[in-house]
Amino acid sequence: MAIAKKPAGNKANKTVFSCSECGTQAPKWAGQCGDCGAWNSLIEDIITTSSGKNTPPRYSGYAGESEVCNITDVSVIDDVRIETGFSELDRVLGDGLVQGSAVLIGGDPGIGKSTLLIQAIASLSQRVGTLYVTGEESLQQVSLRAHRLGLSTDKVRLLSETQVQRILALADKEKPGVLVIDSIQTVYTDQLNSAPGSVSQVRESAAHLVQYAKQTGTAIFLVGHVTKEGALAGPRVLEHMVDTVLYFEGDASSRFRVIRAVKNRFGAVNEVGVFAMGDKGLREVSNPSAIFVSRHETPVSGSVIMVTREGTRPMLVEVQALVAESHLPNPRRVTVGLDQNRLAMLLAVLQRHGGITMYDQDVFVNVVGGVRVTETAADLAVILAALSSMRDKPLPNDLAVFGEIGLAGEIRPVQNGQERIKEAAQHGYKRVIVPLANKPAKPIKGLEVIAVQRLVEAIEHL
Ligand SMILES: [Zn+2]
Repeated sequence: MAIAKKPAGNKANKTVFSCSECGTQAPKWAGQCGDCGAWNSLIEDIITTSSGKNTPPRYSGYAGESEVCNITDVSVIDDVRIETGFSELDRVLGDGLVQGSAVLIGGDPGIGKSTLLIQAIASLSQRVGTLYVTGEESLQQVSLRAHRLGLSTDKVRLLSETQVQRILALADKEKPGVLVIDSIQTVYTDQLNSAPGSVSQVRESAAHLVQYAKQTGTAIFLVGHVTKEGALAGPRVLEHMVDTVLYFEGDASSRFRVIRAVKNRFGAVNEVGVFAMGDKGLREVSNPSAIFVSRHETPVSGSVIMVTREGTRPMLVEVQALVAESHLPNPRRVTVGLDQNRLAMLLAVLQRHGGITMYDQDVFVNVVGGVRVTETAADLAVILAALSSMRDKPLPNDLAVFGEIGLAGEIRPVQNGQERIKEAAQHGYKRVIVPLANKPAKPIKGLEVIAVQRLVEAIEHL
């Protein structure tokens, strides 16, 4: 049976609107999907034809046709990594920038994404070819910033362009080792009619860029803006397309900038890099334990120092709590830098297994310095800070704690306990409250280790 071939239209690129919920395709955009009824789910898509008309271009470094092989035939070579000139950035990337990798850097506007990248590019340009593509700012603005930061940018190549095909055609001539796209929301492909920054444009443009990176071995930094809700503006799928996703944490008003790897094919997830913003741009902070702890002259109630381990490095952070009588039918449970549901759970455990109730109290918990603690090792610090605030009893300021609290009121061990205890000792802490299973076999000089198994034991030590 012959299949009737569709005549090729005059317009080179045909698009369709497909529902992101159910996949139904529609020729026109509509507010609601006619099939599944989802609202605002239709996004523009390129019709893919089997004729190969829409197959993407191949770049000069393209390795050839794909073929099947034996797993043992694959030569195993280590990823080639390039140092960015910032050890804190190298750290979150997983020991340097991997050739041919795509890195997405997200963060609030004005937090320092462009500053960090122009600094990194200036340093990288001394070793590899670099191309900085700006769609946000003019060439003058970028050049002015580099000048203001006192960077030697004589080898940095600049381009002001937003059409992805033109960017890639020029990049193919320039052959940079590192390419920066600032930002992915300004880039568009003319295969689609939707505006730059829309879900389909961001996804499609990123697909071209990532493919270019893989085929040519060029490392690509994509700058991405973050919405008010803290999510990346654009499709979630963007995070799946790239190898590494880095996020700027903390607020722009603070002097410190924390960059966290939320995804990394080449390194540890949750690794954080810490920088301080100054008039010469971002400066790395190699000993972050010193900055997230506000040393109080006299001990204050509601403050507890904990040893967290984000990525591969232990770090001292200060957890603060404020417990105050509530006049609300539902007392408030507010956290900054911690999981709010976890706090509610911990207060329930405290009530059940510690006999201490806070149902008529508002509880606020905060991690100092805008850093976010994602691990359960913070449990013990949260409970002790809340108790200290409620009873207005300060904890000694040479005490550090960590430990997970289980639903049965037990204190559970956490990973890398020894390393955390050492970090506390190194920074002059004289005693630590830790889970029993994390107690070091040999005593540590000058450090009293209080090992606890139950929540009540920890409370007794106050
Ligand atoms: Zn639908």
